[in-house]
This record gives sequence, C-alpha cells and structure tokens, in this order.
Amino acid sequence: MSARRFILLGPPGAGKGTQSARLIEALGIVQISTGDLLRAARKAGTELGRKAQSFMDAGQLVPDEVVLSLVEERLSREDARNGYILDGFPRNIAQAGALDSRGIVVERVVNVSVPVLSLVERLAGRRVCQSCGATYHLVNQAPRESGVCDQCGGVVAQRKDDDAAVVESRLRVYESETAPLIGFYRARGILRDVDGLGTTESVYQAVLAALGN
Ligand code: AMP
Repeated sequence: MSARRFILLGPPGAGKGTQSARLIEALGIVQISTGDLLRAARKAGTELGRKAQSFMDAGQLVPDEVVLSLVEERLSREDARNGYILDGFPRNIAQAGALDSRGIVVERVVNVSVPVLSLVERLAGRRVCQSCGATYHLVNQAPRESGVCDQCGGVVAQRKDDDAAVVESRLRVYESETAPLIGFYRARGILRDVDGLGTTESVYQAVLAALGN
C-alpha cells in the first residue's frame, strides 16, 4: 500500500488540529503539526525552539529554514512511512515548494473555511491542556473542572498566541502568506473545500468525504 499524504489547510481556529486528531485514528496515519513541533522545541529549550520563540509570540511565521529542519526530521521517522496529515504546514508558497523539491506527492489538500468573526470567537475561548494538548472552549466545551483536563488531569490554559492582539496578527499573516496556497493547490486539481462551521462530527464527515474515504 502506498503512503497517503494529506494537507489540512485553513486559518487559525478552523479546527485543523481537532479534525486531524480524529482522522489519524480512522486512517491509521500520523498527524504532523508544525505548531506542535515548534511548541515542543520551545519547551525543550532547543536552539530551533529559541529561534522560533519571538516569531510565535508575535503571531508571525517562523523562518522557513527553522520549520523545514523540524519537518525534515519528523518526516524521516519510521511512523511517517505509511503517510501523514500535515496540519499547519505548508504555511506559504516557499514551504509548498520545499515539499515539491523533495519529491513528496500530496494526495489531497482540504481547505477548511470559517468566517473571521467565528475564528476570533473560537480562538478567544480556546483553552489547551498543557500536558496532553486536548483542546477545550470556555463556552462550548469547557472541562468538567475549571482549569483541569478531563483526559489527563493536566493544567488547562490559554495559549499565549490566542491573546486577542496576537490573533489579529495571525489572521493577517494567514491572509497574506497562507491563503495563496488555496489557488496554488486548486490549480493542481487536488484541493477540496469544506465548510468548517457546524459540529465537529459534521465537519469530520465532510473532511473524510473530501479525502476520498
Ligand atoms: P499553529 O499551532 O499552527 O497555530 O502555529 C502556532 C505558531 O507557530 C504560528 O503562529 C507560527 O508562529 C508558528 N508556525 C506553525 N507552523 C508554521 C509554519 N509551517 N511556518 C512558519 N511558522 C509556523
């Protein structure tokens, strides 16, 4: 069986992480989130993590060479051999070009769209477990005990870059740097659009269908 490689494209808050977590179980492949890789590198205090820090805190893209070396290392691991879902990568045309130049063939790109007002509301209320990464929302999906993860008992807190001022910058960066990828992949005939509003379940079903499953 050949490896299945997918990209989930969409603005911050579109639900890429939530959907990826479900998809990997259904498809038996791994999720590769550059945001998660960068946060782990920061936590571990590596040189790449230190380089990424100020960009992430400002809601800017981390320089391509930093991201690409993390991605390169991740893709070379054994568990990526059956395929993967790229979540948060590529984030600009140069990163997409880096996949091409390595001969990586992507089967399908799913573009999850959500109106800006909903994104702002989602990101403002989003809370994340600092230990296992489970995500919550203060209004729609609060943890049973405030600040405590239902799944692992870890501390549930707001991501630093979900702060309103940083969110504004992340959304601007998405429009200018990342949204051009929609046309880039549409021109190849491998992009499918999915409406990211609705329940997690209904969006999940739409994404599965868009992946051809
Ligand atoms: P995310 O968790 O995908 O929202 O990413 C959080 C932050 O990590 C972004 O705002 C960027 O600063 C950085 N980041 C994540 N993925 C990339 C990428 N592919 N290229 C550049 N920066 C990235």
